[in-house]
Amino acid sequence: MDGPRASHWIEVDAGALRHNLSLFRRTVGPGAQVAAVVKANAYGHGLEQVAPVAAEVADWLAVHAAGEARALRGMGLRLPVMVMGFVPPWELDGLDRDTHLLVSSAEALGWLGEHRRRTGVSLPVHLKVDTGTHRQGVSVGELPAICRVAAREGLEVVGVATHFANIEDTLDHGFAGTQRDLFERALAVARHELGEVPRWVHASCSAAALLFRECDYTLVRVGISAYGHWPSRETQLSWVLRHGRDGVRLRPALTWKALVGQVQHVAQGETVGYGRTWTALRPTRLAVLPVGYADGYPRSLGNRSRVLVRGVPAPVVGRVCMNIVMVDVSDVPGVGVGEEAVLIGRQGEGAVTVEELAGLCGTINYELLARLSSTTPRLVVASAPAEQGAGG
Ligand SMILES: *Cc1c(COP(=O)(O)O)cnc(C)c1O
Repeated sequence: MDGPRASHWIEVDAGALRHNLSLFRRTVGPGAQVAAVVKANAYGHGLEQVAPVAAEVADWLAVHAAGEARALRGMGLRLPVMVMGFVPPWELDGLDRDTHLLVSSAEALGWLGEHRRRTGVSLPVHLKVDTGTHRQGVSVGELPAICRVAAREGLEVVGVATHFANIEDTLDHGFAGTQRDLFERALAVARHELGEVPRWVHASCSAAALLFRECDYTLVRVGISAYGHWPSRETQLSWVLRHGRDGVRLRPALTWKALVGQVQHVAQGETVGYGRTWTALRPTRLAVLPVGYADGYPRSLGNRSRVLVRGVPAPVVGRVCMNIVMVDVSDVPGVGVGEEAVLIGRQGEGAVTVEELAGLCGTINYELLARLSSTTPRLVVASAPAEQGAGG
C-alpha cells in the first residue's frame, strides 16, 4: 500500500499543482504576478501539503484569515502573503511586514494604525473596492475618504483590488465589464488621492484569469484552477467560444482513496443501510468503505454516486453514514478487504470527478473540495510518469 497509515487519505499531485500554476505564470500579462489562493485548507487539499509546492511557482500566497498567514510563516515560507478576509484587531499581532491586508473599512484602518503605533509594525494595505459584488470593500465614492484615513493612520497603501460578482456561472460577461469600468474609475481616484496608482492592482480570480487578460493588472488571485479545476462549465465554454478551441489543460491535483474495510454478501430482497433505502434485486456483494459524511463525502450522494474499485465505477448503495459508505461491487470480480478504492480521482481506466459529485448533490466543485475534512491525512505524491508534462 502506498498511502499513509490510515483507512482513507487524500493524495495531492505536486506535479499537477506546478503544472496549473505554471500555466497562469505563462499566460498572465507581462509584469503581472500570480497569487495562489490557499484559503479553506488549500481548497481541501491541505495547506501544509500545498503551500510549499505552490510557493515554488507562485509569487504570492493568498489566504482568508490572519491565522492562516501565521501558519504559512510557521512552515518557513517567506514569500508575500495576502490576507483577504476580515481581521479583527486582536488578530494582527505576529503578522510580519510581508503580510498584506485587504482592507474594506475605515475601522480596520484605525485598528491597523493603532497596531502600528503600539508595535512599530506597519502592515501593508490593499484597499478593497466594492464594484458591485456587495460583499467586501468600500464604494468608489468612499475611496477618497478612505485614502485620507489611511494617510492619517500613517499606513502605506500598496494595493487596490476588487472582486467580480458574476463571472463564473454565466456566459454573459456584461456585468464584469461594468465592474471593470468602475474599478478603472477607482484607480483614477486612487491615483489622485495617493499621488500614484499603488504597485499592486488586482481584480482577477481563476475565471477572470482564464478569460480576461485585460483584468490581469499587476497581480491575479488564482484559487480553484490552481488545483486543476475550471470554476464552472460556463467558464470553460466561454474560453472555447472566445478561442474556438479547447486549449487549456488543467490537471486535477487531488485523489481521495479509502481501503475496503469489509466485503458483505447481501441476499436478494435484503436491504442495505439506514432507512432501508436500497434493496438488493439480485445476490449482491458490497464493499464497505470507512469514509462518510463526517469526512466530507456528502450524505446526499447516497444511492447516487459511484466509487472506483479496480478501476470500475461501482454504485454507492443505501445512505451515506457518518463514517461509512457501502458500494455495490457485484460486477467487480475478486474485491477483497484492504484493497484501495477511489472516491475522487482516477484508478485504471476509471475516473470520478469532483464536478460529477458536486453536480449529483446540487453544489459546486468549490464547496465539495472545501468541505473535505481537515482531519483526513494528506500526502504529496509525484505525478505518474505518463502524466508528467502532459497537456499545455
Ligand atoms: C477565493 C477568492 C479568490 C479565488 O477565487 P477562485 O475562483 O477560486 O480562483 C480570489 N479572490 C478573492 C477575493 C477570493 O475570496
